[in-house]
Amino acid sequence: MKLPQTGRCQCGKIRYEITEEPQLVYTCHCTDCQRITGSAFSLGITLPEAAFRLTAGEPRALQRMPDSGRPNTRFVCPDCASWAYSLPRGGVIRVRAGTLDDTSWLRPTRHIWTRSKQPWVTFAEGDETFEGQPSE
Ligand SMILES: [Zn+2]
Ligand SMILES: [Zn+2]
Repeated sequence: MKLPQTGRCQCGKIRYEITEEPQLVYTCHCTDCQRITGSAFSLGITLPEAAFRLTAGEPRALQRMPDSGRPNTRFVCPDCASWAYSLPRGGVIRVRAGTLDDTSWLRPTRHIWTRSKQPWVTFAEGDETFEGQPSE
């Protein structure tokens, strides 16, 4: 994959770029992610905060209290409501991987909150799995 990589919300009002390769590509199977996405899990990447840059739009901040008990702020497009990224924590930002313009290179190797995963979801040999929230 080439850098920078660009991404956007569904309507295109919110745009961003990332200037470094993600530290991690992961799936989250918590029930909040299932409900928010209307799907079985969410797909995310983690990056140093400095490797993320908003290039267009003004996302709206939404607060929620996830299963992990740590408050979480999601940034969504005010028009199309796509969830683009979360508030950085400890210098790390989590971006919703499906909002990248090119998603062909993404391959999750860590899977969290597997205790609430759908029974038909299976993981590749050697992938990291966590029943809940990893401590780091
Ligand atoms: Zn939008
Ligand atoms: Zn989740």
